[in-house]
Amino acid sequence: MEASTCPIDAQFSDKISILLSSPPLPQEYFEKLVTERECNGLKVKLDGEHGKGVYSEVDFREDDLILKDRMLVGAQHSSNKVNCMVCSFCFQFIGSIELQIGRKLYLEELGISADGGCDSSGGMECSSSSEKIRLSHDTIQPLMEGRLQLPYSENFPLPPVVSCIGGCKEAYYCSQSCAQADWDSFHSLLCIGAGSSSPNREALLEFVKHADDTNDIFIPAAKVISSTILRYRKLKAARVEQQPGKHVVSDPHNSCIFPLLLEAWKPVSMGFKRRWWDCIALPDDVDSCDEADFRMQIKDLAFESLQLLKQAIYDGECAPLFSLDIYGHIIGMFELNNLDLVVASPVEDYFLYIDDLPSSQKKEAEKTTKSFLDALGEDYSVSCQGTAFFPMQSCMNHSCIPNAKAFKREEDRDGQATILALRPISKDEEITISYIDENLPYEERQLLLADYGFTCKCPRCVEEAP
Ligand SMILES: [Zn+2]
Ligand SMILES: [Zn+2]
Ligand SMILES: [Zn+2]
Repeated sequence: MEASTCPIDAQFSDKISILLSSPPLPQEYFEKLVTERECNGLKVKLDGEHGKGVYSEVDFREDDLILKDRMLVGAQHSSNKVNCMVCSFCFQFIGSIELQIGRKLYLEELGISADGGCDSSGGMECSSSSEKIRLSHDTIQPLMEGRLQLPYSENFPLPPVVSCIGGCKEAYYCSQSCAQADWDSFHSLLCIGAGSSSPNREALLEFVKHADDTNDIFIPAAKVISSTILRYRKLKAARVEQQPGKHVVSDPHNSCIFPLLLEAWKPVSMGFKRRWWDCIALPDDVDSCDEADFRMQIKDLAFESLQLLKQAIYDGECAPLFSLDIYGHIIGMFELNNLDLVVASPVEDYFLYIDDLPSSQKKEAEKTTKSFLDALGEDYSVSCQGTAFFPMQSCMNHSCIPNAKAFKREEDRDGQATILALRPISKDEEITISYIDENLPYEERQLLLADYGFTCKCPRCVEEAP
């Protein structure tokens, strides 16, 4: 098999190498990241050995909140969309308990099951639907349409569903502000509704289908490209406004104002490390002598996806973004991401609440709720799951004896990442998290960390090294 060669890689090689070798970001950039987030007393420092690192500027006690990190880009797993209806921007659950349950049962009735789309590499938990009890359409419909209210569901209010500005039936929101923010930052180019800014909605549909059929990691990657294009256009419009004397010449050659593209690319440039096909872990069922073939197939798959995306949202001024090398680095950024998007389900809370009621009330409530719980089966508790990139958290270095960890508290009900102190951390100490299961033995830890491109030399590894 011939490896894919991307014409854009050759045509824009100079610009691509500048985009991929972005100079270290300035301190102001990280200061802005810190001030925009819920965190007190953190500083990103650049040092020679590990590159970036996050340091405490205050003392933290055990269990203290260190950081709530807002994602730069994220997307719900395609297969998870049947289970959970969440805001496409902030990822909190929307609608109502009734809608969440009714919609899921309705989609399952149509034969759209989350099981079929399970992505083994994405860490999804697949559950069997064989033991579920099917409910009739007439039982599900009133739930979906809000005509049937479940007992005590008023204790679990969710924000009402807001539709996409572009009119697609794919993206829904918790508020107008989330709908607008998503539209401005990502969705206007990727919407398949009538109001989309994509020049080719057919191609967009094909791109999404390809991602759903192969690997949904392409969806957040497309969001990175669309958001960079949208940022570039905004910067360019602002520049035109700042220079009112100059005529806006419509440029027949679509010439790129490269410094603006570099500026638009800046938030991404802190995230990528390695190309997807170079860093993806070899699946267990692939023999190590077939490794080169496997990596080439992955590269070809990325190329296929990129060509579909290019047909859908290509912008000549941002042409270098459609290079396979760039795409590989963007996907690699998500592949090497050590923190998933997870939001706990209010449907789980609801059924646990019913289960905890005093027996007479419970008995009464279960007259209505039991059949739905039976129909949901074990899936009643499925959380919202996806892929995301968290810019501050990604600056935290790994340690096999970390002093902090990602942990969602009861109140953390959206797509933000929460980092808590595992033990007291004193001022000027580096904040570390574990990228892997730190309970594994030395050799296995080092093997997993090799995918991230480094050998761990944390105090524990130094001690345990043979
Ligand atoms: Zn929202
Ligand atoms: Zn839309
Ligand atoms: Zn270590």
